[in-house]
Amino acid sequence: RAKSEGRGTCRFFDPAIGAEIRERRQLEHDLRHAVARAELELVYQPQARVETGAVIGFEALLRWRHPERGTVSPAVFIPIAEESGAILAIGEWALREACREAATWTGSASVAVNVSAVQIHGPHFARLVHEVLFQSGLEPRRLEIEVTETALIRDPARALHTLRSIKALGVTVAMDDFGTGYSSLSNLRTFPFDKIKIDGSFVRSVHSNAQAAAIVRSVLGLGRGLGLPVVAEGVETAEELRFLAQECCDAAQGYLIGRPAPIGQFAQHTHGGGRVPPTPAEAA
Ligand code: C2E
Ligand code: MG
Ligand code: MG
Ligand code: MG
Repeated sequence: RAKSEGRGTCRFFDPAIGAEIRERRQLEHDLRHAVARAELELVYQPQARVETGAVIGFEALLRWRHPERGTVSPAVFIPIAEESGAILAIGEWALREACREAATWTGSASVAVNVSAVQIHGPHFARLVHEVLFQSGLEPRRLEIEVTETALIRDPARALHTLRSIKALGVTVAMDDFGTGYSSLSNLRTFPFDKIKIDGSFVRSVHSNAQAAAIVRSVLGLGRGLGLPVVAEGVETAEELRFLAQECCDAAQGYLIGRPAPIGQFAQHTHGGGRVPPTPAEAA
């Protein structure tokens, strides 16, 4: 392979390069072909209204089915894709796929798509969103873009411009992992978010840690004050959900509501009427 990379790029084995770095390079190489080889898929995790339990939307989460390694977590491959630039093709695929899928749903559930710093700072992101909405026929208000505050700080002016452009299309913008960044409050003021997602690390500690409970309460108060709905991430237990209900949290997402899964498992919510098509196991 060294030869095909041309003159002056001959490689030699360097024992000083750790196995970790070699592995990362291998993944980086494999990632470049993941879209073309159809190795990526989206799983969906439901979001429910705390008060009623009604499913109001789904977050699309990437999975990479690596031919040799099995399923690779986005926590592993997204940072590599961001560094190598592969995230542009991967992110575009995820956006197209999520919108195409959501446009087939009979109900009005929204679809949330995670977007990286590289995409937000690229020059064509708003145009891409516009084009994908047009092509899929998905109503703009059913699309939600999730960004973490760390995705915005490289060039805040540019990021702000992009967010305004996609909001002008009628798309919702949610601040992901709220509370884990450097200056969540000032970022909330700078950027035109429509929604706050409290990071799961706070939610999962509400019963063991008084600070976490106070933080979740404050974020909910903040959301009320700013007129922004708040979604709690990472809800795993009935106790956590009860706490969120007491504190008037709008929506919840987490293993208690449903684990991320292929969209077919949620057919009763995406294809309406409460009629649940039997799963193959049930039908058998
Ligand atoms: P995120 O956007 O904050 O997504 C929530 C993560 O929490 C997901 O991990 C989800 O599976 C996990 N989760 C949900 N409920 C629970 C729970 O009750 N308990 C626990 N322990 N975990 C829960 P996942 O799917 O591994 O994704 C990790 C991160 O990778 C995401 O965090 C997001 O930042 C990123 N990611 C995933 N898909 C995409 C994508 O299409 N584009 C980009 N740029 N990033 C993505
Ligand atoms: Mg997210
Ligand atoms: Mg999150
Ligand atoms: Mg996260």
